[in-house]
Amino acid sequence: MSDQTPSTPTTPDVRDVAPGVRQVAVGHPFLSYMYLLDSDEGVIAFDAGIRGSGPDILAAAGGTIAKVVLSHAHADHRGGAPELDAPIFCHPDEVPDAQGEWPQSYLDFGLIENELVRDGIQQLNRQWDSGPLEIAGTVVEGDEVAGLRVIHVPGHAPGEIALFRAADGLLIAGDAIYTQDLEIAQPAPARVPHPSTNWSTDQARASIRKLITYNPTSVWTSHADAVTGDDIAAQLEAAAAFGEG
Ligand SMILES: [Zn+2]
Repeated sequence: MSDQTPSTPTTPDVRDVAPGVRQVAVGHPFLSYMYLLDSDEGVIAFDAGIRGSGPDILAAAGGTIAKVVLSHAHADHRGGAPELDAPIFCHPDEVPDAQGEWPQSYLDFGLIENELVRDGIQQLNRQWDSGPLEIAGTVVEGDEVAGLRVIHVPGHAPGEIALFRAADGLLIAGDAIYTQDLEIAQPAPARVPHPSTNWSTDQARASIRKLITYNPTSVWTSHADAVTGDDIAAQLEAAAAFGEG
């Protein structure tokens, strides 16, 4: 399907993060994490990594994906989706962008100060993407995906969603919370995503504050470390306020 798809078997980089939830690292050297969720329907992919990630994701899942649910439709989250041979779902507010060409109209790479990153990230995004998707259905606030609750967290993208499980406080925040400094591509304290990547940075801040009300005990993101510890609420409030004003 993709000319970047490896023809030789690969060893996926997989980590168990909680019962029924695995994190798969794809897209070296600009790392993306996607999540595999065990469910009665089979293994559900929360995000799909970049174009060419499909074989690693399928191998990690044991060969088959039942359904793909996108946190949002940026290239590094949707690019591998067509390779998973499964119906693709997203939030209704994300459907136009999921079915449209990259780049989304609101992306503004001119806001990235580091010239090398500014140019490089646009080239990479073009390589990562696999074009418009066919969306099979939608998930909305309060729906369940593999026993995790859908939370609508608009801001980074209009139809951004996170997944939360009350039983153990597990929150998969996707790109709603960044634990990376985009300007230097290095891990960093939790923060609102870089304005260049956001549909509305103000709404992204409000969505982080919405997530605090769920009292998560671990917060898993798409590009770097999880947010953990005894002071998650304080870390997330700092994330919401990062660069504000
Ligand atoms: Zn994104």
